[in-house]
Amino acid sequence: MAIPGIPILEGKYPASMDLWPIEAKEFNRVYKFYDNLRVGRFTTTKCKKCGHVAYPPRVICPECYSEELEYIDLPTKGKVIVCTEQARGVPLGFEPPPLIHAWIDLGENSPVKRLMSRIINCPAGKLKEGDEVQFVVFDIPAHPIEVKKETKMVNRVFFAFEPVKN
Ligand SMILES: [Zn+2]
Repeated sequence: MAIPGIPILEGKYPASMDLWPIEAKEFNRVYKFYDNLRVGRFTTTKCKKCGHVAYPPRVICPECYSEELEYIDLPTKGKVIVCTEQARGVPLGFEPPPLIHAWIDLGENSPVKRLMSRIINCPAGKLKEGDEVQFVVFDIPAHPIEVKKETKMVNRVFFAFEPVKN
């Protein structure tokens, strides 16, 4: 794994600074969210008792405390409400700055109206209010986990949004 700007870490796994969740079932109770990402689905949890949709996904309904939740699909396209670029303090393991963040409107018919996401595959200074963006899944470095004294590498993915190319 390349660590931009820090040659001494080239090819080393920066475990102590890992910003990504461990997605394996053994370590993460919302592992289904990541399993869904792997097949290109953007999902969150809906309570089977009261119907409340929470984002990010939960293991307990924040409204009625039920643990009976199901995963539902969210829209994979939205519009930028506002965006910002982070030029300093970009954490280790991310590509060189800036990191682009946006508040995204998923539309009136979406169970989750708005959310914050990172924007990738976008040149600095180009994203603006009203731009259409789409959901995209990408690979992140695998993480070693220990299961019954065996170490195995768990493949990981994460998501962001990217500008829709017209
Ligand atoms: Zn509920």
